[in-house]
Amino acid sequence: MSLVKPETNYELVSGLEIHVQLNTNTKIFSADSASFGALPNQNISTVSLALPGALPKLNKEVVAKAIRIGLALNCTINQINHFDRKNYFYADLPKGYQITQDNQPICINGFLEVELNDGSTKKIGINRIHLEEDAGKSIHDQDEHYSLVDLNRAGVPLIEIVTEPDIRSAEEASALLSEIRKLVRHLNVSDGNMEEGSLRCDANISIRENGTTAFGTRCEVKNLNSMRNVRRAMEFEFTRQIEVVSNGGKIIQSTLNFDADKGTTSPMRTKEEANDYRYFSDPDLQPVYIADEWLSEITAAMPALPNEISKQMVAEFEISKADATLFAEDLDLLLYFNHALPIVNTKKTLINWLIGPVRALLSDKGIAIADYKVKPEQLAAAINLVDEKKLTQQIAIQQLLPAIEGNENANVEDLAQSLNLLITENIDELGGFINEVLNKYPQQVEAFKKGKKGVLGLFVGEVMKLAKGKADAKKLNELILEKLK
Ligand code: ADP
Ligand code: MG
Repeated sequence: MSLVKPETNYELVSGLEIHVQLNTNTKIFSADSASFGALPNQNISTVSLALPGALPKLNKEVVAKAIRIGLALNCTINQINHFDRKNYFYADLPKGYQITQDNQPICINGFLEVELNDGSTKKIGINRIHLEEDAGKSIHDQDEHYSLVDLNRAGVPLIEIVTEPDIRSAEEASALLSEIRKLVRHLNVSDGNMEEGSLRCDANISIRENGTTAFGTRCEVKNLNSMRNVRRAMEFEFTRQIEVVSNGGKIIQSTLNFDADKGTTSPMRTKEEANDYRYFSDPDLQPVYIADEWLSEITAAMPALPNEISKQMVAEFEISKADATLFAEDLDLLLYFNHALPIVNTKKTLINWLIGPVRALLSDKGIAIADYKVKPEQLAAAINLVDEKKLTQQIAIQQLLPAIEGNENANVEDLAQSLNLLITENIDELGGFINEVLNKYPQQVEAFKKGKKGVLGLFVGEVMKLAKGKADAKKLNELILEKLK
């Protein structure tokens, strides 16, 4: 009898709670700057400090951004929603409660389709998206005797995206997170930076026997701050829970920490020890009322989403999906492309340049396209010169583009002319070079005439050298063949 691996009898069930820090200029309930990296306690006021009598005032931009991501995740927007107080004590939470949304969040009932490695798609339900404020930060390692508190982050806007327990593997969780990161960036809702904590997630994990439908008891792994750790935590928990159950044990609903060094989880608290947050609606804030007109305005202003863009580009320009994705997932590149598009002679050529030489050039410099000092209109003009055989591609890349950089008023053709980069049209001059080369290689000329056509390349190369690259190779071929007749 063969042994059955216990793993094969169970499936993983998971739902994620994803925190996204919004990239608004100011905090959710005050005019304090929400920027990252300021000196400690620089971005604070009476509201962040929770001084008596200080009142919160909702930042409209936060609501707009939450709606945008809600629409992208196919959610229903709750046009009336409200804020609640989640009560707990912590040194970096001076109010003694966090303002969040409990049972009337801003967005509900959405879904997201993600693509998996095998090319299949998986639909994952979004239970809700709610708005909340971040807490401050306690610093324990700067002073020998005291912990320090920095309240710059207190009140920075967050949204929490809560999925349905539809996730069945670490791969699906990864795909979902990277899709969400892509969307929040695309919609300019957040920088989506996991390393800096702008995107972090809690993973709820349970197991159930294959073929059964009831959910098992879940454990919640807190504060996973990288895609890799989400995968590791899931794989670890999956195996751990199977072991517990296989040995006749029971899973206890609990909150777990993930140890990134060891790749293991450990209990923080069980359900019995869980906080009772005593939620109640915040009397300092009115319910949020999203008027029909405003919602329509935001809906109308939604940009095409990455998946739509890539489908459209594949259809319109007949490029591969991988190439289209490069544009769909890089808004700056797309913007650059769209600026250059009306100017180029052939659209496909522009695409080839952007994903070929321009990309290589940028990666050499270690910069992003947004920082490239050649304007899209100028690149388009340079590409046209090559297209019109007035300039070779090599000279365009190696000499013209560097000369344009930072010279944003330069007329590209004039510049190429003044730098003497244009393909020489002087047949006499080229003819002189050809004679010179043919005289230099009499044996090869003989060989050519006897049928060794391969030496033509040598002649072209040599003439090109004398012409300093400023000749159209095809034309040169013709001229040399003419002379050899
Ligand atoms: P709570 O309000 O106690 O946090 P929720 O019902 O809102 O509970 O669920 C929180 C998260 O846990 C959601 O992402 C949900 O998909 C997930 N979840 C719920 N039940 C399970 C389960 N049995 N196994 C795995 N994940 C679950
Ligand atoms: Mg929860």
